[in-house]
Amino acid sequence: MLPSCKEVARLLSDAMDGRPIGLHAKLHLSVCDVCRRLLEHLTILRRACKSDAGCPGLSPLAKARLKKALE
Ligand SMILES: [Zn+2]
Repeated sequence: MLPSCKEVARLLSDAMDGRPIGLHAKLHLSVCDVCRRLLEHLTILRRACKSDAGCPGLSPLAKARLKKALE
């Protein structure tokens, strides 16, 4: 049985800390658009964190992009 979206969201945030995501979560991602989008979102946020020394917030460019996406 595949994990629920809620469970996958938790696994994805763990994965952002470098933990393995696991086969079941990967299978869920292959069939679930919502979680795929969440993964993209987290990946973008993570990149933004890495490029900003430390992580006090997103870069102005990332903020502008997010703002546009939310409008
Ligand atoms: Zn899902």
